[in-house]
Amino acid sequence: MRSVIIGGGVGGCAMAAALRGTSLGTKSVIVERRATGLAEGMGFILMPNGVDALELLAPEIHWRSAGRTIDRVSLRTAHGRVLTEQEIEPAICVAREKFLGLLRQTTGATRFLEGRTLSTIVQREDGSTEAIELDNGGSINGEAFFGCDGARSRTRALLFPEAKLAEVVVKEIVSIAHAPALARRLGRAFHKYHDEEGGLAVGLLAESDERIVWFMQFDARRWSMNDTSPLALARFVRERITGWSPEIFEAFDRTDFAASHLWPTSDLPPMATTVCQNLALVGDAAHACLPFTSQGANGALADAAMLKVLLSEVHDQEGLRAAFQNYSQLRRPHHRRMFMEGRRLREAFLAPLRNDGPVIPLVA
Ligand SMILES: Cc1cc2nc3c(=O)[nH]c(=O)nc-3n(C[C@H](O)[C@H](O)[C@H](O)COP(=O)(O)OP(=O)(O)OC[C@H]3O[C@@H](n4cnc5c(N)ncnc54)[C@H](O)[C@@H]3O)c2cc1C
Repeated sequence: MRSVIIGGGVGGCAMAAALRGTSLGTKSVIVERRATGLAEGMGFILMPNGVDALELLAPEIHWRSAGRTIDRVSLRTAHGRVLTEQEIEPAICVAREKFLGLLRQTTGATRFLEGRTLSTIVQREDGSTEAIELDNGGSINGEAFFGCDGARSRTRALLFPEAKLAEVVVKEIVSIAHAPALARRLGRAFHKYHDEEGGLAVGLLAESDERIVWFMQFDARRWSMNDTSPLALARFVRERITGWSPEIFEAFDRTDFAASHLWPTSDLPPMATTVCQNLALVGDAAHACLPFTSQGANGALADAAMLKVLLSEVHDQEGLRAAFQNYSQLRRPHHRRMFMEGRRLREAFLAPLRNDGPVIPLVA
């Protein structure tokens, strides 16, 4: 059976790995909008559920050494006073491009069609998907389809037009700094600094001996910040952190703002179903969540790991549809929980710091 994967990010590459050795993986193809395939900059926190999924999908790679282990969270005031410190179940901070490079090594015989964008979906009379059409006028037929095209998924917009991303309340600037001395001092700890009034925070983690992943989250209703030029990003972050901890200045001073990203964070209210006959949505396309959970990439990996198990014995269309239905139902509780947790953590982030301190911004 031929599988067509729309989108070659975390979910798409993980899906290709999941299809290896199944009847759906023999002639699979990934259609990826970006010409180069690999995203630049930034980092992910691989949580225990993401690492478990990776070990099921591609046990040949030693994922635990792909980045830096993080096992302590230190929540601080803007000036650096420690509010709370806590051990956490080990997570791994990885650079995005390194992680996607490793994930691509696991995609087996899957063919990559890069620089091509899904424009529309051709459906049969019964509503099943027959083919996808591309921006260059070409089309690709298949038996199984996976919509892995991210939070603003075109696949979802075409097949589930009622599912809409929620309003952007928080934006996040994400970047990487070359700061070996700071990386050494941070070690295995994740430091997060909070403005006492709420709605503004900076996080720092080491992803290697050399580099720091940092992010600034801010209330987009207070600061709209639409200019994504390097100069505007650098000015914006500096204006926000006057008088903040020197660690933050150290990271910002060693940042190339041309490689920084402004992320208008948005979540997707849980969908009644994430499958349409022989097509399944995977990752952010199915359940985009807020960054406070750190579950975006991990959720996509867990989706693919579940599909690997459910599709292992599938040999025909009937089996495929039953497996997709199971997938949609089994993943629904996780989607709901991440949506609720994301909203709860966002409320806590927007509120002024209370006596009981801020909440740990990770959901296992
Ligand atoms: C700017 C930004 C910064 C982020 N930073 C972090 C972070 O620091 N930590 C973290 O955990 N998460 C972060 N996230 C979220 C994280 O990237 C996602 O949750 C995670 O990658 C989900 O994987 P996915 O495969 O569903 O989506 P993605 O990894 O986004 O992959 C979707 C892929 O589909 C392709 N595509 C889209 N439309 C089409 C189309 N029509 N045709 C063909 N291809 C298409 C895209 O080019 C992309 O490669 C960030 C997201 C953004 C947008």
